[in-house]
Amino acid sequence: MIKGQFPVEKFHSLETPFYYYDMDLLRRTLMAIRKEIEGKNYIVHYALKANANPRILREIASCGFGADCVSGNEILRALECGFPASRIAFAGVGKTDKEIRIGLDNDIFCFNVESLPELEAIEELASGGGRNARIALRINPNVDAHTHRYITTGMEENKFGLNEADLPKALDMIAGSNHLQLIGMHFHIGSQITDMSSFEDLCVKVVELEEWFSRQGVSFDVINVGGGLGINYHHPNHCPVADFEAYFRLFGKYLKLREGQSLHFELGRSLVAQCGSLIARTTYVKEGVSKKFLITDAGMTDLIRPALYQAFHHIENISSDDEYETYDVVGPVCESSDVFGEGVSLNRAKRGDLIAIRSAGAYGETMASMYNCRALPGAYFSDTL
Ligand SMILES: *Cc1c(COP(=O)(O)O)cnc(C)c1O
Repeated sequence: MIKGQFPVEKFHSLETPFYYYDMDLLRRTLMAIRKEIEGKNYIVHYALKANANPRILREIASCGFGADCVSGNEILRALECGFPASRIAFAGVGKTDKEIRIGLDNDIFCFNVESLPELEAIEELASGGGRNARIALRINPNVDAHTHRYITTGMEENKFGLNEADLPKALDMIAGSNHLQLIGMHFHIGSQITDMSSFEDLCVKVVELEEWFSRQGVSFDVINVGGGLGINYHHPNHCPVADFEAYFRLFGKYLKLREGQSLHFELGRSLVAQCGSLIARTTYVKEGVSKKFLITDAGMTDLIRPALYQAFHHIENISSDDEYETYDVVGPVCESSDVFGEGVSLNRAKRGDLIAIRSAGAYGETMASMYNCRALPGAYFSDTL
């Protein structure tokens, strides 16, 4: 088994658990994307909810990416960390008045509107404040993303987006407003998508809808196909940079842009997942009746993905080269779901050994909580450690 490369000596003096970010890998990932979109009318908005650590955000912003935000505070964080307002899209089913005002006051690129009542609220707040709002309609394409049901978002039964039946009404409302400017359509079908045919299904739907709008006399400058590109959680060392070439090629093949049209993407996980690892210390190795438990000082409060969606993370004992043994790797939190992995093969562990939980850069640190009055995990970066 290949293990990741970690500065284990430096880790010894640090308080665990913490996130460790490989900034070189992050930069290589960002460059790989830049290479694919160069010379095309493609814009990538990084989805902040995957990881909103300011250091990470500054790095991504400095490479010229836009931002995809799902709360008012994410908009403020994106602005603070160097993303220009003209590249911030704002999605989410439950934008509050306060959050809409943050978007309007900063004149963000676009509101991705998810319902008729939201459209009404944006119109009211824009006209009340003498502002204009650029709008993209988030349409639920009823496409199956073939991913975990908690992270699929583009099916009719999901709460996200406008249904096709809402569209004539939405067009009427926009036509009747001096403060709303319709610039695009928006989609997002789910996350951790590894079956590329889901994106093909989405493209077919996009073309169909574009034709429908065109018959209503409506054309768009912006087509936004959302995010969702998955990563390889089982082999983090094998292809640490996702296959962006295949991903962008697929959209290029199916979506022919018209003059002046730009294609927007909202990638989160695939930018940041592989560059982050959660580093924990082995608190105890406990002999159970039929198995061994490796109890770490990290828990579901630091990384909730396994408990929340039975997510798999590759785990390594980075302090030992002893022979492999099988452990259930668990946290200290008082919940039976506080388990990072069952039947995990690790170099024989002892109290104090450092454990790396890999591919934790996305939906890790951002989802941390203080349940059990635990402290939030720290963060260290390979280039400043
Ligand atoms: C979460 C989210 C994304 C990012 O999804 P990833 O799977 O991390 O790429 C993009 N767009 C919207 C609207 C989202 O909610």
